[in-house]
Parts: sequence; C-alpha cells; structure tokens
Amino acid sequence: MSKETGVIEIRIAGLSEGIYEYDFTCKATDFKHPELAEPGFCNAIDVKVVANKTDNDIIVDIVTKTVAELTCDICLAPLKKEVAGIYRVFFVFDEPGSNTEGFDENYRILDRNASSVDLTEDVRETLLLSKPLKVVCEDNPKCSVYHDGAPGSPEDEPEEESPWQESLKKLKKKYH
Ligand SMILES: [Zn+2]
Repeated sequence: MSKETGVIEIRIAGLSEGIYEYDFTCKATDFKHPELAEPGFCNAIDVKVVANKTDNDIIVDIVTKTVAELTCDICLAPLKKEVAGIYRVFFVFDEPGSNTEGFDENYRILDRNASSVDLTEDVRETLLLSKPLKVVCEDNPKCSVYHDGAPGSPEDEPEEESPWQESLKKLKKKYH
C-alpha cells in the first residue's frame, strides 16, 4: 500500500512534556473512503486533537464533530443531525524495557525519532463510528404517528402495509 500524505497529522518533533491541542477542519472526501463519501457526511468536519505527551508515551484524544445530512429510518424525511465521535489512541515510544502491559489494541509503538504522527486513519475511524445507527426525526408530526406505539415492536404497526412500508421495515432491520 502506498503511503499517502496524511490529512490529519501532528508534529511531535521537539515537543516537551505537556498537553497540546490541535484543530483541523476537513471534508469527508479528504479521506478517500467509500463509506465516508456517502451523502451523510457532506458538511465540514471539525476535528480536535488533544495530545498528552510524557517522556514515555503520547495519549491522543480525537473528537470529531459534523452536521450529518441523514434521512429518517421511518418516514425517510431528510434531517440534519450533529454527530460527534470520540476516540483515544496510545502511542508508546519504542524502547527496551518500556511497559506496554494494560494497553488495549489501540496502542501503537512509536519511533522515538518520529517527527510527526499521522492520525488520518484514526480520524476516519472516529467519523465512521460517529455515524448514528438509528435515525428518527423528532418534530415531524407525520412521522410521530409511527413511533407513538411501543418502540421496537413492529407488530404494533398498522396491519395493512404498503410495499414502501415493507421495504422500510427491512431497512430498519438492517440498522438494528
Ligand atoms: Zn421520520
């Protein structure tokens, strides 16, 4: 796989211990990923990166925020929703004797001479995780007819079903 220039990258060369904040604004298309290219993520994406550097490691917190353009799972009405994602990555400097026990799969070994850390893939992951699994509009009276009943029991829905309602049910199942 060819190495692409990172979209989200922080410089760590010469950083002393401490907490550093970085702000980025990007577009989903910057990530060249089919799932992010879908219409939902069409607005600007704010990315905040907080790096806490110590002598042995860097803990990086990633927060993504964007207004996703979605459609209601029930009535298919278009709606906008602010979505946020949070992700934490541990970077441990590669050195004999460094203790990496207790870290989860998010930890990476980092070359002590590395001048920067590429967070592009992690930000992309954060965005993908922030995508809501269920989307239901809140103040659409036409839609509330359907979620007045007991939630999660499709049997309570009207007996007569038009083909589009059936396809919606299938769609809803897909998201459960
Ligand atoms: Zn709706």
